[in-house]
Amino acid sequence: MTRTTPSPPNPPLEGEGLKRIPFLTGAGMSAESGIPTFRDALTGLWSRYDAEQLATPQAFGRDPALCWGWYRWRAAMVRRARPNAGHLGIAGFAQRGHAVSVVTQNVDDLHERAGSEHVVHLHGSLFDSRCLDCGHALAPDPILEGLDALTEGARESPPACPACGGPFRPGVVWFGEALPDQAWDRACGALDACDLLVVVGTSGLVHPAASLPQHARRRGVRVVEINPVESAVSAYADERLRMTASAGVQALLQRLA
Ligand SMILES: [Zn+2]
Repeated sequence: MTRTTPSPPNPPLEGEGLKRIPFLTGAGMSAESGIPTFRDALTGLWSRYDAEQLATPQAFGRDPALCWGWYRWRAAMVRRARPNAGHLGIAGFAQRGHAVSVVTQNVDDLHERAGSEHVVHLHGSLFDSRCLDCGHALAPDPILEGLDALTEGARESPPACPACGGPFRPGVVWFGEALPDQAWDRACGALDACDLLVVVGTSGLVHPAASLPQHARRRGVRVVEINPVESAVSAYADERLRMTASAGVQALLQRLA
């Protein structure tokens, strides 16, 4: 491997101390893999619905088949997508000796498929379905069944739990639900012991995730933002890389290698 020495545009990032690096990632991370945001995915069959009809506990209670079908369709889109240079670049930091953790607001599995090992899903995962009533989970996840052949989303009854007969629900955090305790604790732990926080492709508006970078900043942690557009994080980031997720992560990787 050839070691290149690019001229760093921001020298303070260089140095021995940068070992523990959490990445906080949002929708902009997966956009380059072709995964639409919740709102942008409301096309075709789904265009007459909104979040209140598809992504709340009440929506599932009213019409579980509509809700399960929607998440099956979203899961099918994710299965067809591939990790981009941003996901791969984050995994690359770990390969170069940094202690990397990923705290993501995304419900896809692209970080894992890119090779990242420590991934916290603040808003749950499309691939973590469980029984609504007793929490029972199955392997493989029933949301995967026949997914590769799913060409168009449709209403579909959720599978029944083999333990209690209750309906399976998607593993995502719905609007109005609390974040999973364990995920939140792990996210706070990753940010409590870090040398640099990199925030990628998130608006910084969705709470409580939005409070994480501010919390790190107050403790004196250097915050780098990667986002092609201004966000709520921009105001207090030490450095703003106005780039897409893939370009920004790769640029940072070159500098910290
Ligand atoms: Zn059950």
